[in-house]
Amino acid sequence: MRVYRARFLAALALTGILVLMVLGGVGIFRLIIKRDEREVRETVQETMEIVDEDMGQLDELKEKMKGTEFVLILDAGHGGSDVGTGDASYYEKDINMDIVNEMVPLLEYCGVKVLLTREGDETVALEERSGYANESEADRFVSIHCNYCEDDASVAGLECYYWESSGVGRSYAESIVRAAEESGEIKVRGTRTQDFHVLRETQITAILIETGYISNGEEGRKLMSFDYQKTLAFYLVKGIVEGYLDSVAEPVGM
Ligand SMILES: [Zn+2]
Repeated sequence: MRVYRARFLAALALTGILVLMVLGGVGIFRLIIKRDEREVRETVQETMEIVDEDMGQLDELKEKMKGTEFVLILDAGHGGSDVGTGDASYYEKDINMDIVNEMVPLLEYCGVKVLLTREGDETVALEERSGYANESEADRFVSIHCNYCEDDASVAGLECYYWESSGVGRSYAESIVRAAEESGEIKVRGTRTQDFHVLRETQITAILIETGYISNGEEGRKLMSFDYQKTLAFYLVKGIVEGYLDSVAEPVGM
């Protein structure tokens, strides 16, 4: 009897130790993940120079994005031999790329998978951009541009274009405009429709954002400044993520 009891106790003790080891392992694993998440957060906040309040807003979006799989094609307009608008001192293609580069880390932080139509100063035809979108499994296509008004230098403000018959496109454009208006720093002209190639030929919901007018002295200078590009990037990301979350949210009540 004694021998059996001793064996039983030994087995019990061993099981206990094993359970503790497993639980301890899980605990340590969780701590490592938490530490990694904290480090990622700190890196994003520092490198992208985001103030605490804005970082808090990104955290909220990240939390809401959990469990969703949002793939976004981000299209920096023009590039390479196609310089876009602007004069000899600057090109639209470069401003577009700068804004996109500011947006990517913020989107990824929120849990969005981002695909780019160009990563540097490359020439990419419009057909390649829409073709890439149509071959991909992406959910949304967002094209970033700057505008130019030759006749009237006083014209300024952000515009968001959607394909006329697309209801989802329209509400998506509205969410971008709403986020930009909330900023209090971005002048907004509103949503519009136009026969742009990327809106017409892209099968997934597509919008084109004219972030502002280079032809307007004040807005042109802002568009070329690092600070304003960051402001634009932050609020565009907010609108892009919030608009997506709204569109996948289940309808409430009847
Ligand atoms: Zn353009």
